Order: sequence, then C-alpha cells, then structure tokens
Amino acid sequence: MRRKPLNTASRSKLSKYAKPLANLAILLADAGSRLERRFWKKKLFAALAPMLEGRSDTTLMQTLDHLYSTNYRAYDELAFAIENTVESPELGQEEDILLLAAPVLAWSTYNIPSGKIEEATVAEFTALLQKNVLSDHAHLVLTNMLFSPDQLPESYTAAAELARQLGQAAIDRVKVRIDTENLPATQSFLSDVRYLIGAVSVPAGQPAFKWQVEAHSNGTLLSKEEVLTNWRLTGGQALQTIMPGCLLELMLPNGLYNACREAEKEARAYSVRASAAFLETALDVPTQKIHASVGAFVDRGEIEEYRIGFSVEGNADIVHGVVWPLIGEEYGNEPDPVYEKDIESEPDNPVIRSKIEALLKEVGIRQIKVLEERFPLEYCEDCGSPLYPNPEGELMHAELPEDSELPNSMHLH
Ligand SMILES: [Zn+2]
Repeated sequence: MRRKPLNTASRSKLSKYAKPLANLAILLADAGSRLERRFWKKKLFAALAPMLEGRSDTTLMQTLDHLYSTNYRAYDELAFAIENTVESPELGQEEDILLLAAPVLAWSTYNIPSGKIEEATVAEFTALLQKNVLSDHAHLVLTNMLFSPDQLPESYTAAAELARQLGQAAIDRVKVRIDTENLPATQSFLSDVRYLIGAVSVPAGQPAFKWQVEAHSNGTLLSKEEVLTNWRLTGGQALQTIMPGCLLELMLPNGLYNACREAEKEARAYSVRASAAFLETALDVPTQKIHASVGAFVDRGEIEEYRIGFSVEGNADIVHGVVWPLIGEEYGNEPDPVYEKDIESEPDNPVIRSKIEALLKEVGIRQIKVLEERFPLEYCEDCGSPLYPNPEGELMHAELPEDSELPNSMHLH
C-alpha cells in the first residue's frame, strides 16, 4: 500500500501536533496482537477525525513524510487510516458511510467532457449503480458532475468535507448539487480518466457492494469481475450518451482512494494504446515506423515515473509522449533515508519496465529503446508539459509536425 508523500519536509522537526500522531502510528505498526492493534487503531481513528474536520493537512502531510523516511510500516498504517477516515466519516451510530468513485477511462481526439450532468442522467446513473454494483442495503447519492482528475478534492480535508456532505445527504435521502461554475479548468489530454462521485450509506455493519452479498444459485458469491461486466454493459451505454465521440472503458466503482489508484494504473496502458492509434492516424505512418524511447525519471533518490517519447523512424524529434507514473506498491524497495544520492546509480524497476516494453510491442511498436541513464523530472518552463526522452537520450518537448492531421481542440500534453 505504498503512497508517495508529496512534500520534502521529512527532515524537519515534527510539530507538536504531528508528534503524537506519528507515535500512534508507530505503536499500531508495532502491536503484537489483534487486541492491541484494535486498541491503537481506535485511538488513531479518534485522533484523525477532528484533524480532518480542522484543516490539518499540513500536519498530516508532515507526519506522513516523516514516517515515510523513518518507519515505513507506520507510514503505511497512517496513510491507510487517513484514507479510511476520509472515506467513511462517522455520522451517527446507525449508518455507515463510504465515499464512492466510479472511474471511466476515455480517449478522444476531441475534448473529453467533464463538469455538470443533467438531473435525469444523474438519476439514471444512480439507479444503474444501485442495481448492478451496490447491495440492496445501500442507498447512493451521486453528485451532478463528471469529475476530471484536476477537479477531485485536492487535499485530505477537502475530500473529508465532501464525504461528510454527501454522506449526510445519503442518510437524509436528499440530492446533492455541486456548484460546477467555479471548478478548476480541465486540461485536455488524448486519454484521461473521468469519475462519477457519490456516497453510499448502509445500516451499520451491512455490506455495501453486490460482490459482498449476492450469490449465484450454487451459493458462490458474485465476483468483482462479474459485477464489473454488468456495470460495463449498462453504465457504458449511459456514459456514452454524455461522452460522445469518446472510446470508454469503465472501471470497478469502489471507495474513492482505491478506485482512483486502480484507475490511474489502468489509465497508463490505456494511454499508450490510445497514443499508438492516434499517431498512426495523425502522422499517417504505420506503427512499425514509430520509435519509442523509454526513460526512468527520478526524484529524491527513487524512480517516480517512466516517460515514453515517441518519434518517427529517421528523425529524433519527439512527436508525442506518455507519462507512466509509479503508483502505490510499485515504488521498488523501502526508500533510503538519504535522498541526495547520485542519480546515475539509482536502481531500476524491471517489472514496470518490462510491462511497458510488452505493451509497446502489443500495440505494434517494434522500435523500442530503453535508455540506461536516469533523468530528472523536467518540465517545459513555458507550458509545464513534461519533457520526454528521444532515442539519443535528450529530453525534448513533444510536438507534432505541422502537416499532421490534428484537430484544433487538441493539446498534446
Ligand atoms: Zn511547452
């Protein structure tokens, strides 16, 4: 359950608020029995709830960051406890709450829609999720919005606030309407993820999802795969009507953090496939003539992401690029507390690297170069887009040749 902390304050002294939190996480990680675990867990959850209501993001991030480099198991316990507390706020004794996300991968050479959804469509998605994904005990309230990744709550406390708002609405059986006017603008990508977001309430202790309760006639439970298949069949049609011109792949709806991580993982392969198809069309060259250069990008002593630069045979210019971030448990071994190491000597992540290579071959790209050097996380100073490696190992801005068939609405990064 590895997550990467966001800031670099790991060596600074812990604040008076962060210290007790870090201690609780360490005690939980060191617990010697289920009984003791339960004891510390309860204390940790009780400490987190008011922090999430009180805009304590800095303290949470500082504590996570400190534990990440000093006690990895405690870090993992704390990260998991924060996510759980955010997704399932305590709103009385009678109902359990879960903040739910239903992700969909999309690709289109035009804009991928996001933002407001009409009333009738919200009702339709609610009914379809209720019927195909959720247990009969569950009551779902969906927001009237299709979220892009830029529009998801950007901090733990913001997500917790949304969970409380939606959770209370689910308990009260009322609708929630989000003010979609002032949301951050969505950057346009060739392929991206969109999310339906809502909250589920169930009577305390009851299951929320179909795969927890619904059985076949022979008594075996419905698997997550079967639930996903049913959701894809029905939800796919409904989503297509609000996302015209997009190729869609629906992912399993689940608790917000789990659903987002799984969607982010899948989105990487999805965007490699989309890129190959797109380049073939836009440049009018067969995939055999497309060259892919794969480089590992390092931050604070660890591989943060791979970047794939696409070029056309005989020309070192990068025409398109894909970022392949490492997610969750993919961050190799436990990090070294000393971050500032020689970037050249950093380890590789052979599992991910061979996954990328296999995928590139699968989409028909034969000219693949895996670069040995490690690159710093560099971005274009003007537009902020990532720089991609070319076959010679130089970092470049991705730019399509001027005569390519690119719709005007499309950004390349
Ligand atoms: Zn730029």
